[in-house]
Formats: sequence, structure tokens, C-alpha cells
Amino acid sequence: MELYRGVNSGNKTLPERYYSDGLLTKQHNSGDDPEPHKKYGWLATITNHIHFTNPQERFIYDTTQFLSFSSNRDIALSFIGGATNRRFEPAMRSNAEAFLFTANFADGQLEKVGKGVYTFSYSCNYGRCTSDAAFVSPIGGLVRCNICNHLKGYLHKAVLINAEQFLFDLQSDYPEEYQKALWDKEWLIMPADPMVDLSGKGFQSRLFIADFWSVEFFKYLN
Ligand SMILES: [Zn+2]
Repeated sequence: MELYRGVNSGNKTLPERYYSDGLLTKQHNSGDDPEPHKKYGWLATITNHIHFTNPQERFIYDTTQFLSFSSNRDIALSFIGGATNRRFEPAMRSNAEAFLFTANFADGQLEKVGKGVYTFSYSCNYGRCTSDAAFVSPIGGLVRCNICNHLKGYLHKAVLINAEQFLFDLQSDYPEEYQKALWDKEWLIMPADPMVDLSGKGFQSRLFIADFWSVEFFKYLN
């Protein structure tokens, strides 16, 4: 299964830093509670990620610990065009203004833990920072995984949510959220690795650099 995330430079998740920081969520430096799913509850964090109608819900949306993906590549690309349907075309890394991230999951790699909810384990690969043209940078040799650097063989973790399936039984309570999840073929990925600081609470707000995701580059025509 492949999931796609289209996003432009300057987005709050800082996609342009993918080659050193991995894929960051908006929770990065949000200043909010490090465990929003405990503070607000899973259902509120998920439904407000998809749709908000008031300032409190908007705040949860703005600090979400989820990254949105779509199972449909064209839908993910339409997010690069945005609400005004800006035109764009493939670009070089050097002049990229937007990114399409593709996450690839082999059969059996996802473990189902609930309706529409899965866990995923993966090894990071910071070798890409010195060997993969899409990731190489002047600081590439210095970029390390802050967990595996100390804990060899660690398997990273993430939670995947098929938003449409997850909300299927809740359609009457969350009709707009369900519709949006259905239209967008939306999947949410939540990084679930512990903080390095032992006193830290919650999860690190990044998907680490790893072989299961890749990047394509786009620039705008208008
Ligand atoms: Zn690692």
C-alpha cells in the first residue's frame, strides 16, 4: 500500500527540512501539551485534525500530532495546488517549492490494532543523508537518528489511521469529518517514538529518515 502527502514549502510542518529532520508534525515546537491525545482524547484529536469549527478545535488542528496522507496520489497532488488550484510541474530538488512524499508499506508490515487503526515498525536509514541524491546535504554526514545513535537496532514506531474506516461507525456524530475523510481518502500517521530525554513526555514529533518513504519535487507555474 502507498500513501501520499502533498505539501508546499513554508507549511507549518517544514517539509523543506525533510532531508535532515525527517517528516515533522505541527506538534513540533507547538508549546501545547506533549500528549494531546490524553489531554483532548483520541477522537477529538482525530476529528479536529480533519475538520474544525471553533477556536478550540482550530488549536488542536494547528498543533496536531498527525501527518495527513491520502491513499490517492492525485488527491495528494491537489493539496499542492491548494484551494486556489495553483498550477505546478515536476522540478529539481534545487528549485522545489512543493513536495510529494510517498510512504510505502509492504503487505504484513501493518499490524491492525482496531477498526481502521494500525501500528507500524521501521528501521531508520540515515545513510541516505550521504548516499541518496534526494537527501545529501553539506551537513549530511552529521545528521543522525537521535535514538539509534545510542540504541543500535531500535525499531521506530508509528500509528496509522484510515480516517474513513475509523469514523465509519461515528458518521451520525461527525458527518462533516466523515465526508472529508471519505473524499480525501485520508490516512493519518502519528509518529510514536519516545522522547530521548528520559523525563520527556509524549512522542517525538517526527517520522525519521527511512527507506519506507521517498520524496518528489514540484514548482509552481503561477
Ligand atoms: Zn533510528
